[in-house]
Amino acid sequence: MDKQQREAWYLYHQQKYGIPVEYLRREYERELAGQNPMDAPLEIPDKMEVFYKYSYGQQSRFFRELRENQAVYGAKCPQCSKVYCPPRAHCSQCYKPTEWVKLKGTGIIKACTVQHYTTSAFIKKVPFICAYVQLDGTDFLLMTNMEVEDVSKIGVGTRVKAAFRENRHGTITDFYFKPLE
Ligand SMILES: [Zn+2]
Repeated sequence: MDKQQREAWYLYHQQKYGIPVEYLRREYERELAGQNPMDAPLEIPDKMEVFYKYSYGQQSRFFRELRENQAVYGAKCPQCSKVYCPPRAHCSQCYKPTEWVKLKGTGIIKACTVQHYTTSAFIKKVPFICAYVQLDGTDFLLMTNMEVEDVSKIGVGTRVKAAFRENRHGTITDFYFKPLE
């Protein structure tokens, strides 16, 4: 196929499936330029859409509390008293089933880095902060992304509090952290 035919081929598949032309060009240029042997397996673009239900299992209450009550819950081990957030159904030290405890939603940044690029659909603003937060009353770290006005004001030791989005869907992004004033 000549260059014009190849471009038409890319455009057709982009419009049909919504596949970016850069991807098509990268994956199919060799084939369309006739560089693959005639007997080599021929691959063509296609699209698969899958709708499915995902279960949070024993962590379900954590997400319901976020969505329904704008509350952050941790999971406490009845034996060693360690509190997990993100929650765990069983203590990873003692293997005992944990119990739910309501957290205040405040915490402290224990580690963080500034990100200047993103591929995440959750992040609109760059640069942003990727941080490990230890919520007050817990013994473990929660990874989170923070969109802030001035990233230079955020660092290890910054106190933060949970804020909740107006539209909550029962996902981890129903809440986010902002610096505690
Ligand atoms: Zn334990």
